[in-house]
Amino acid sequence: MAGSVSAMARPLVLVVEDEAALATMLRYNLEKQGFRVEEAADGQEALTRLAERAPDLVLLDWMLPGVSGIEVCRQIRRRNATRDVPVIMVTARTEDQDAVRGLNTGADDYITKPFSMDTLLARMRALLRRANTVPVKGQLSFHDLTMDLASHRVQRNGRMLHLGPTEFRLLEFFMQHPRRVFAREELLDAVWGPDIHVEPRTVDVHIRRLRKAINGDGEVDVVRTVRAAGYALDTEMH
Ligand code: CA
Repeated sequence: MAGSVSAMARPLVLVVEDEAALATMLRYNLEKQGFRVEEAADGQEALTRLAERAPDLVLLDWMLPGVSGIEVCRQIRRRNATRDVPVIMVTARTEDQDAVRGLNTGADDYITKPFSMDTLLARMRALLRRANTVPVKGQLSFHDLTMDLASHRVQRNGRMLHLGPTEFRLLEFFMQHPRRVFAREELLDAVWGPDIHVEPRTVDVHIRRLRKAINGDGEVDVVRTVRAAGYALDTEMH
């Protein structure tokens, strides 16, 4: 199924669902399609997971014990790291009012139970495609950094930067997912590829080189180290 889920390496989906059987079915089918899956059985657990690591998409059941789906959605939109993460809410047929409220709260789409896996996958792919579109023709930008994907030119504040090929791919990946924290293993997966066996410590070496290449004198360090979690492209919370 390689290639079935957009150009991005194995998107991470957070499945927030209190019906264990449905959560298991979703995990099984999504993993079969090449997605990585994290589960949360209630709203509180969802918020904890979201704080640890921003997923590429959230499947959010609306009727949850404790913290409601609407509140989870609100929090997703409130937090910097998850503000742009697509949210599909999952409602029961009798909850049409909730669907409207959910869309008002910032959900991107909704699907009504029972749904077919094909329908869900189509909706997910459409949202992931939209989330990954490059805003300016072939150009990525973050803070005072710009990257031209065709010419491989990277500039900071108008100053040309010189990056090695791995540092370039690392920065490209970070710029596609600004402010999201990635574990070393995730970076290895996305930048080196899932079949390459290198030590997680290798990531640290390239992060060091990347920092050296992009942070000039007196400039903000845009690479954030998150203790015990990994790295993010971020200008806050050093
Ligand atoms: Ca439920």
